[in-house]
Amino acid sequence: MPSLPSPAYVNAEYQSTHYNLFKDSITTPLKRALPPGVTQYAFDAAIIQFMAVVGHEQVFQGDALTEYIDPYELSEAEGKRKMPSAAVRPRNLEELRCVLAISNEYGIPLWTFSRGKNLGYGGPAPRVNGSVALDLHRMNQIIEVNAEYAYAVVEPGVTFTELYDYCVAHKLKVWPSVPSLGWGSIIGNTLDRGTGFTPTATHHQHICGIEAMLANGELVRTGQFAVSESPSSHLSKFTFGPSIEGLFLQSNLGIVTKLGIWLTPAPQAFMSCSFDMPDFEDVETIVDVFGPLRRDGLLPNTVYVSNLVEWLGMMGKREEIWPEGGAIPEWRLKELQAQLNIGYWNAKFGLYGAKEVVQAHFNELKKIVAVQAPKGRLSGEMFSADDGHTLDPASVAEPHGGFFVGVPSLWSLPMVKFRLPREGGGIGAHYDYSPIIPSNGGTVLDWVKTAKRVCEAEGFDLFCDFFMHERHVIFVNMMTFDKTNVEHRRAVQAIFMNLFEEGKKRGFSKYRSHINTMDLVASLYDFNNHAYRRFVETIKDALDPNGILSPGKQGIWPKRFRENAKLKAQL
Ligand SMILES: Cc1cc2nc3c(=O)[nH]c(=O)nc-3n(C[C@H](O)[C@H](O)[C@H](O)COP(=O)(O)OP(=O)(O)OC[C@H]3O[C@@H](n4cnc5c(N)ncnc54)[C@H](O)[C@@H]3O)c2cc1C
Repeated sequence: MPSLPSPAYVNAEYQSTHYNLFKDSITTPLKRALPPGVTQYAFDAAIIQFMAVVGHEQVFQGDALTEYIDPYELSEAEGKRKMPSAAVRPRNLEELRCVLAISNEYGIPLWTFSRGKNLGYGGPAPRVNGSVALDLHRMNQIIEVNAEYAYAVVEPGVTFTELYDYCVAHKLKVWPSVPSLGWGSIIGNTLDRGTGFTPTATHHQHICGIEAMLANGELVRTGQFAVSESPSSHLSKFTFGPSIEGLFLQSNLGIVTKLGIWLTPAPQAFMSCSFDMPDFEDVETIVDVFGPLRRDGLLPNTVYVSNLVEWLGMMGKREEIWPEGGAIPEWRLKELQAQLNIGYWNAKFGLYGAKEVVQAHFNELKKIVAVQAPKGRLSGEMFSADDGHTLDPASVAEPHGGFFVGVPSLWSLPMVKFRLPREGGGIGAHYDYSPIIPSNGGTVLDWVKTAKRVCEAEGFDLFCDFFMHERHVIFVNMMTFDKTNVEHRRAVQAIFMNLFEEGKKRGFSKYRSHINTMDLVASLYDFNNHAYRRFVETIKDALDPNGILSPGKQGIWPKRFRENAKLKAQL
């Protein structure tokens, strides 16, 4: 019997959800894979060396790799699952450096991740079959949380929940941001340009100081963090020369080993705000009213807007509300909308700061909405501490707090069960297409009409949300599906490709993508005959000449894969 990985989480709920998620997702037996171009003999020799470095109990192969595949893989039944050859779990920088040296010696690609919860984008699964999964979750120190300047410095394995718990335990008056699932890593989510809901929601824009290990084992730091013993290491994004921080985001140029990230200073008050509008076409008004307010600072934080179907997706299985085939018809959606007393579009956002300032922002918003969007319903619920004190996020009553005040949970996970059979069985999964769209009402309306048509042509509903930033929205078309249902899998693939083509026609790219579509998305960045790709490849070849770090990530391939047809054929 192969030994199974030791628990990934101390938190019992997270550990059992993690364990069951992977175990229950497998529809065909795991197949052994070898790294491309590496013989079994050489691979076995490398494994022995990995074991000598990290301990034999931190190296996994064969059936012990259950937790290193994509639980939502679309083409698993067709035998196209992305599969690592092994998993290695270093505990510190020294072990990591030795793992890199072994990989360089044998030419073994490593697929780096921190917690591997990149669900919808491949989870921990590698782009290249036979890569060794480089699982960094054991490097999990919270190096520092500075409440005075509101920043934290963390290692890869630190989860959003662990940082929140640490701040609570140490009574630190800061609110770290959290996505709608709290079990992911701060580093992995931030590097993949993930988002939360508080004032520091766009995580990558709040990075301040990165430490990364390069393929040759060298450590490099960015910004003021590169100045030895600088008291400004995590305070300023100014640097002297080119900013290289961005080279480590969505990248295969290095392994991030420490990240400085800004947090929200605990405010005196938080107002939980909602605004809804009843009809599909109202999205135009929402974007045209709220967009300028995001730009002029009246609404300083992300506005999260979801459609009715996404709300339904949080409430139970689709067959309970629409047992027929095809998309849920308009009349039924209207009926459900009336029952739930919500809008077709439901915007949620928070206002944070001194109570009187928050109230003033809300009063102004009320005036604007009354004139520009009178059909909509606005509400705001104030939660505040006494003057001179800060608000305890845990004191904000449901349904108002949660991730809007940085309190982590697994809140949104049930939505992946929406398309499971009512009588039980099936495997919940999701996939998405998430374009970056100008924050313009007409443009967003055109997109939702197109997306609805594309989804309904395949018998799926438009299940979506979007995040309003100052000048653009990130639109997330979600396809939740039953992985055991062949028709669902076909439809999801078709919807993705059709949305991709529609987005391409309009000049839209995605902000993030599944490993299986990284080449496709990268192909959009085509100015001057793909000068961007050539630029990054030049750096890649210089920093990682053996091409061991996450080959193919974001469509960036090292030289040996680009030039070797035999290797390419194995991908
Ligand atoms: C129901 C549901 C809801 C979700 N809600 C949200 C949400 O609200 N916001 C959101 O952003 N996402 C959301 N997601 C997507 C995803 O679950 C999260 O983004 C999650 O935090 C990503 O997993 P992770 O943090 O463990 O990152 P990882 O899987 O560890 O990393 C992500 C990627 O970053 C790179 N990487 C990781 N660590 C390193 C490193 N140390 N050095 C170099 N590269 C590295 C790797 O390429 C890796 O594949 C949701 C998913 C589901 C299924």
